[in-house]
Amino acid sequence: MELLVATGNAHKLTELAPLFPGHRLLKPADIGHAGFDVLEDGSTYFENSLKKAMALFRLTGRPSLADDSGLAVRALGGAPGIYSARYGSEEGGPKLESADRNALLLERCSRFEDRACAFVCCLVLVLSEERFFAVQESLEGELLREPRGAGGFGYDPVVYLPSLGRSVAELGPEEKNRLSHRGKASARMAAILASLE
Ligand code: IMP
Repeated sequence: MELLVATGNAHKLTELAPLFPGHRLLKPADIGHAGFDVLEDGSTYFENSLKKAMALFRLTGRPSLADDSGLAVRALGGAPGIYSARYGSEEGGPKLESADRNALLLERCSRFEDRACAFVCCLVLVLSEERFFAVQESLEGELLREPRGAGGFGYDPVVYLPSLGRSVAELGPEEKNRLSHRGKASARMAAILASLE
């Protein structure tokens, strides 16, 4: 199936494409909607994801997929959560570089003994105004005291997976796709798609 992905971010599309084998993923710009943008003002991953996918469906009338993700730190009550991408940045100002954002998070969590955290990904696929599917998955880990590893992106170097003895940034891309919040949510969504065809 041809799926429009509600993002202007080519990196996100590159990441999602191998997780949906047999489907063709397009970004709005590929069909003449380069300016597509949605204000992510929901209070949950699901609200943001549904809002983005529904907006793209209403614009195009075509199957539309959106994802919203983040890192939830238990000692911070689930923060940075839906605000992960902009954590530590001034409102309206430029985004911090990942390394600075990670350093800030570790510093703010330095006094906490509870290191539990989880990556979260919510995917929503809108097929019509009345018909949508939503999946939310997680990858649970522990917040490290120092970054580790050079792979992945974002918060990967500060999240440790005790069962593997490695940080997420120390996983290969295929291994990360198999275990990650985004990989697992995509596999479930791909199974839903397969059940429809
Ligand atoms: P959004 O889903 O584009 O709003 O951004 C999610 C943000 O959460 C990213 O910019 C990262 O900071 C963080 N994030 C989401 N998934 C991952 C991941 O797999 N590794 C590291 N950071 C992630």
